[in-house]
Amino acid sequence: MSETWEALSHLFFPPVCYYCKAPLDSRGGRKLCPRCRELLKLVEPPYCLGCSKTNVILDEETLLCADCQLRSKRAPLSRIIAGAAYEDLVPHLISKFKYGRCRYLADPLTDIIMAHPEFSVLAPHIACLVPVPMHWTKRLIRGFNQSEDLAYELSRRTGIPVAKALKRVRYHSSQAGLKREARMRNLGGAFQFEDSYAKRFQNLPKNRLTALIDDVCTTGTTAELCARALKRGGAKNIILLTVAKT
Ligand SMILES: [Zn+2]
Ligand SMILES: [Zn+2]
Repeated sequence: MSETWEALSHLFFPPVCYYCKAPLDSRGGRKLCPRCRELLKLVEPPYCLGCSKTNVILDEETLLCADCQLRSKRAPLSRIIAGAAYEDLVPHLISKFKYGRCRYLADPLTDIIMAHPEFSVLAPHIACLVPVPMHWTKRLIRGFNQSEDLAYELSRRTGIPVAKALKRVRYHSSQAGLKREARMRNLGGAFQFEDSYAKRFQNLPKNRLTALIDDVCTTGTTAELCARALKRGGAKNIILLTVAKT
């Protein structure tokens, strides 16, 4: 956007906080007002190296929480990189984004993912961003897939390409409220690898990461099943990038 155009647009549409609509005094750059930004519980050390949770007891040696220590070393998903705790402002932002169809919130939500202390270290090793897919009927109802919006926004900022390498082949009732085992049963066989991506994934060197993208991670079941499908397609080192871990 040219400077004149930006100045003009600010004259007619003065910049406001994405969330509370408080006017912002600076030009561009700021997306949430300082008061709302303070309400975000961004992940800061010490956090679990497996799932990014901060309010947990960590093993002194591995720096993993009890849940992550129990997870098999051969689990298809190697790490969960979540930018914030699912508390305070974050659940509101996510539900406004998804159910309120406020797609512009992909911008501040991407800020949260990128605010993770290790994001900038990991980013150069990420080969592609794979959004968690949505069944086409659900997508038709919602009008968009929030994970895809986040993946494209992340891609725009980092230059890492998006690979829509997974598809959801079964439609399910909501997962909310279900326990991990029930989620696994409910979701069995839900995700399929898009064969057209096979060559691309099989040729990836071992040290290159494949990043799954989802708005929020609850039990991790969806991400784990997606990672399994990606592994079947040849992906090696898979991590999840998400706004928040509950
Ligand atoms: Zn605000
Ligand atoms: Zn953990």
